[in-house]
Amino acid sequence: MELRLILGDQLHPGHSWFSEVDQNVTYVMMEVREEASYAPHHIQKILCFFAAMRHFAADLRKSGHQVKYLSISDSQNCHSIIENLKILLETGQYSSFCYQEPDEYRLDHQLKEFVQSQNIQSQLVSSEHFLVRRNEFSVVFPGKSQGYLMETFYRHIRKKENLLMEQGKPMFGKWNFDAENRKKLPKNLSLPDPVLFQNDLSHIQSELSQAGIQGIGRVDAANIFWPVTRDQALQLLSIFCDRFLPDFGTYQDAMTVKSWSVFHARISFALNVKLLSPSEVIEAAVSSWKNSTPAFEFHQLEGFVRQIAGWREYMRCLYWSHMPEYAQMNFFQHHRKLPVWYWTGQTKMNCLSHAIGQSLEYAYAHHIQRLMVTGNFALLAGIDPDEVDQWYLGIYIDAIEWVEITNTRGMSQYADGGLAATKPYVSSAAYIDKMSDYCTQCHYVKTLKTGKNACPFNSLYWSFLESNREKLIANPRMTMMYRVLDKMSTEDRNALMKQAEIYLSQLDDL
Ligand code: FAD
Ligand code: SF4
Repeated sequence: MELRLILGDQLHPGHSWFSEVDQNVTYVMMEVREEASYAPHHIQKILCFFAAMRHFAADLRKSGHQVKYLSISDSQNCHSIIENLKILLETGQYSSFCYQEPDEYRLDHQLKEFVQSQNIQSQLVSSEHFLVRRNEFSVVFPGKSQGYLMETFYRHIRKKENLLMEQGKPMFGKWNFDAENRKKLPKNLSLPDPVLFQNDLSHIQSELSQAGIQGIGRVDAANIFWPVTRDQALQLLSIFCDRFLPDFGTYQDAMTVKSWSVFHARISFALNVKLLSPSEVIEAAVSSWKNSTPAFEFHQLEGFVRQIAGWREYMRCLYWSHMPEYAQMNFFQHHRKLPVWYWTGQTKMNCLSHAIGQSLEYAYAHHIQRLMVTGNFALLAGIDPDEVDQWYLGIYIDAIEWVEITNTRGMSQYADGGLAATKPYVSSAAYIDKMSDYCTQCHYVKTLKTGKNACPFNSLYWSFLESNREKLIANPRMTMMYRVLDKMSTEDRNALMKQAEIYLSQLDDL
């Protein structure tokens, strides 16, 4: 008999493991406290993981597969993947053990050590989910240990997968249409309501409470709207392609108090647990573009495909190229604590209050809110990347380390010294005001740089540049900003630095 492990983020119904029923195979799945509590996870995230796993196990059983499922309340559960596996193998029922490539370094390492310590035949197989292998950087950037341009990687995947290509050339003559994707929302544009499912997960919530797992954030366990089954994930994808994709690219970077997801797909949870595969998501989007009447612009599609085929795959390869040292990187040597209001949303800064408030409410914020509001502030305020990582890893429904840490520590905090991003993503109030309606209802004044009601982003921005001059001055993408800073009068510059100092000394009160 063979024992096959299915991890909580390996719910891939199309995996070749499941193409036929084999009575000599038992699949094992487990809900363990160790995984549910290594970061302060959002309660909706824990519920959705366990619900999706339970549905997946039920579907496997329905198809005739044998499944051993250890739930959080199971008395036989040791709450550690490795300890549970040891006990199962000690029964002597199994002559071989097989598992899929884990996406997380910690589990990959633990499982490798585990199989070496066991006197049993074992096999590691692909998760058959991603478009390229973990070590694709060695193909695209041979001999390099930095300077991995996303655009180069993206073009490689486009060619390799023959994606949005025509006779070996990119469709419509350009690889990237990002320049058309940075529009603010027009005031009178009507925004579609996000598609919400109604999953009653109260039974799992009670089991979690009994197990002493609380989680963070808000929840109505009887009405969980995230997709937790393959059918729901497919429905969400299909509705996104019909109703949201035609405007996706244009308003990809826009933020508003009127909507928490704008035209975004909200498929990251379904993708990351593998209920959806990246290739089927891309196919669905392409097919919707080809068949829609009236036709929508190509840049809406390209902007979306780039996120999945480009950024998502890129982040995974970056992770595997630099773990475990990536998790320790702190380029700017930032060591401040995360302000308390990151856990409550109670700050007078409207942009942060909205982005954090909706994160606590829905376990979701879209990319620009994560990058240019919460991430931007944390970087400007010099927060320790360990603290920032813990927050992002906990709060978002889609947060799994390989894609969270590369986006947070890398793209957002530049703690990797520029492996993921070509420059730090920082801005003053001007960018937030340009891309949102946050500033009009804020306690702080977006145009003021100093004084009691000055927007904190303004002075913190210039003080960040000044404090990190030595580390950033040689970066050609920062030259213009340093030129502006150096043209300021000494008086103005000193006033800005003083204002930033005041704000930094009272971060919790902003
Ligand atoms: P859409 O905007 O509709 O995009 C479609 C899909 O593209 C997403 O579902 C996602 O799979 C993919 N995608 C888009 N941008 C990225 C990116 N930068 N990296 C990888 N995939 C991308 N994404 C996660 O899946 N998990 C995380 O833990 C996570 N943490 C982040 C932390 C920070 C600081 C930042 C700046 C970004 C993070 N992202 C993370 C990337 C991105 O913000 C989310 O994938 C996206 O917001 C998910 O919502 P959506 O499905 O509506 O995405
Ligand atoms: Fe945010 Fe400053 Fe605008 Fe207020 S004024 S919403 S703090 S950027």
